[in-house]
Amino acid sequence: MAVAARTPLIAGNWKMNLDHLQAVAFVQKLHWTLKDAKHESESVETAVFPPFTDIRSVQTLIDADKIPFALGAQDLSVHDSGAYTGEVSGAFLAKLDATYVIIGHSERREYHAESDAVVAAKVKAALKHGLVPVICVGETAADLEEHGASAVPVSQLEAALEGVPASADIVVAYEPVWAIGSGQAATPQQAQDVCAALRGVIAKVLGDEAAARTRILYGGSVKSANIASFMREPDVDGALVGGASLDANEFAAIIRFEKHVGV
Ligand code: PEP
Repeated sequence: MAVAARTPLIAGNWKMNLDHLQAVAFVQKLHWTLKDAKHESESVETAVFPPFTDIRSVQTLIDADKIPFALGAQDLSVHDSGAYTGEVSGAFLAKLDATYVIIGHSERREYHAESDAVVAAKVKAALKHGLVPVICVGETAADLEEHGASAVPVSQLEAALEGVPASADIVVAYEPVWAIGSGQAATPQQAQDVCAALRGVIAKVLGDEAAARTRILYGGSVKSANIASFMREPDVDGALVGGASLDANEFAAIIRFEKHVGV
């Protein structure tokens, strides 16, 4: 398959961390750390995914100071509006200039019983409101033992892409559940093998053009010490980073992976 030029994406999933005041201080620090290091923001896209309550404050800061970070949410409702207490519509996120929304993170699949059908409905809701879904897939340790690494992520992605048009702008994140927050990342080869299989799913469902342009991220215990090894792999186009995205210096070092890719 022809390799398209895909701009790497480094995405920070803050989960339920940092209130809106801390978020503003953090984004300013991250921005200045990258500026001091003369990071070229066009070569690597940076995105932050704060909690809902922070998004307006972060949007205002990014806008006022022209900070070259994309903004994303960690979830959205399948509904547009109405009597759904506690839910947040994709329409509201779009109004806040959010570009991305994480869908199907393993913590939502596990703690909020999000099925493949719910994930697929959320992907459609995101696209309807002009948001780019960051579709998370990944196997548990038990899945890995029973089915190998690719089977579960492949079937999760097939389900998530049902009914999605070939022209849709999506991002896929391969996050082995056993690697999330465990300090035990997948090997670069494991990540490459599954990301290649996921690109095959995109090719089969959405076509070769979509497969060539869609970014596939690896996530699970990514840090500055291992990011370069993942980014050397041809089918890994970036990272979804949890814990390490909460430390501005560490996250900046991950974003600057090009500086240590040859190490
Ligand atoms: C995540 O939860 O998306 C994640 C990758 O977490 P961590 O980087 O902490 O493993």
